[in-house]
Amino acid sequence: MRFLLKNEMLIPEALSDKSGAKRISEHKSSYPQSFNPIFKYSSELQRLLYGKQLLLEEIPFPFEDIHNHYLNGFLQYRKCIEKMKDGYFCVRCGNSDQKLFASFSCARCRQECAYCRKCINMGRMSQCTVLVSWTGPSPLSKIPEKPLVWDGTLSDGQKRASTELINTVQENDQLLIWAVCGAGKTEILFEGIENALKSGKKVCIATPRTDVVIELAPRIKSAFPEVDVIALYGGSEDRNKAAPITLATTHQLLRYYKAFDMIIIDEVDAFPYSVEPMLQYAVNQAKKDISSTICLTATPNQAWKNEIANGKRKAVTIPARYHRHPLPVPEFVWCGNWEKMMKKKRLPRNVLAWIKEHLNVGKQAFLFVPRITYLESIVDILRTVDIRIAGVHAEDSDRKDKVARFRSGEIPILVTTTILERGVTVPNIDVAVIGTEDKIFTESALVQISGRVGRSAQYPNGEILFFHYGRTKEMIKAKQHIENMNNEALQNGFIN
Ligand SMILES: [Zn+2]
Ligand SMILES: [Zn+2]
Repeated sequence: MRFLLKNEMLIPEALSDKSGAKRISEHKSSYPQSFNPIFKYSSELQRLLYGKQLLLEEIPFPFEDIHNHYLNGFLQYRKCIEKMKDGYFCVRCGNSDQKLFASFSCARCRQECAYCRKCINMGRMSQCTVLVSWTGPSPLSKIPEKPLVWDGTLSDGQKRASTELINTVQENDQLLIWAVCGAGKTEILFEGIENALKSGKKVCIATPRTDVVIELAPRIKSAFPEVDVIALYGGSEDRNKAAPITLATTHQLLRYYKAFDMIIIDEVDAFPYSVEPMLQYAVNQAKKDISSTICLTATPNQAWKNEIANGKRKAVTIPARYHRHPLPVPEFVWCGNWEKMMKKKRLPRNVLAWIKEHLNVGKQAFLFVPRITYLESIVDILRTVDIRIAGVHAEDSDRKDKVARFRSGEIPILVTTTILERGVTVPNIDVAVIGTEDKIFTESALVQISGRVGRSAQYPNGEILFFHYGRTKEMIKAKQHIENMNNEALQNGFIN
């Protein structure tokens, strides 16, 4: 391969000429290429690049060093932007929407150079940039004989899923774990991860949400105390590290390429993964050709439910919480034209009575509202009853602080948009939704919201009320969803 000097950067010729895209794709299909076994490779470069796809300029090594590794078969170069028959294609993020490409007069290649706008916040990918990946041997990681140090026990429902998970890992298959909110899904993963680690596999737990990565990291580290675990999210310090267990936001996987033998996607139905093809592309790029994929969710979408019912998707359900109590079932309560009342700065009488009753007995509650505009008016009304009541929404910069104050008991009632439908676990609370007929409250949102109640073993029960001005199909489906899970749990002996 010859090199063209373009400004200060050397560009492999195959990547810069017109036929490059074709040669690159031939090159891709020959992966992994064979490497020269007597070449002394740099273990630092190996650790930095193994399983990754980084831009040449992201690699803090002299170009000669990098290219020497390439010549000896230890690295692979790929063009970032391919020119296809019907336009550009971004190799890193899978974007082929031509509206999301732009071009600029490039100082490096001295041409009009097209770049991808879709993944630009991970570094600009243009036609003359090169993605570099490691194709040499994988770095050895020390795995103790017994990597899992955990003395808890799995419930019957968890056990069933854990066994299924181990099979999936061994067969490099795919599996959907459909676990109710509060099933204890992290523990279900432990034995499967241990099994993978023992056979030298690289494990990734990916999730759309940064808070989940931050919350999971210490739990995984304490279950696998002698195994290196890294946590990747925007701003994390582990970016240039590699480890047998990687926790990452699905976004961060854009930097990975054929890295993982086992990939677990937690909350697979959560925003933005569920609606963003780029993130699904990133997950597919990040896993090895032969690997296992495990998806976790409490609320699979309808297409997946159909596939499960038709036997087209392998799935295991955990219909019960680990504490063996049934899921609290929502009650529907008609509250009249609440929007009209809001205009007169009033709340429906039964909603207000519910709030006052909670304040009187000192039981905490979430009140979910459909929109930010209502949130502020409702909080204003409720603060005339009790000044400690507060509201949170997605753009609220005090969100974390307010949730913390709710946890500590300082805030008795927290009014919230659907932003808190997932992830927040507070023992012994009740939940109500006002305006449940709003289209923002889908079956899955309502199941997640109901899932906030009764999660702890000390307080396994609680109340969940859907205040509405006309019942919707989604409300009915959500209630059926929960009742079906309780029935299945009862039939399997998973609840008392
Ligand atoms: Zn260029
Ligand atoms: Zn892109």
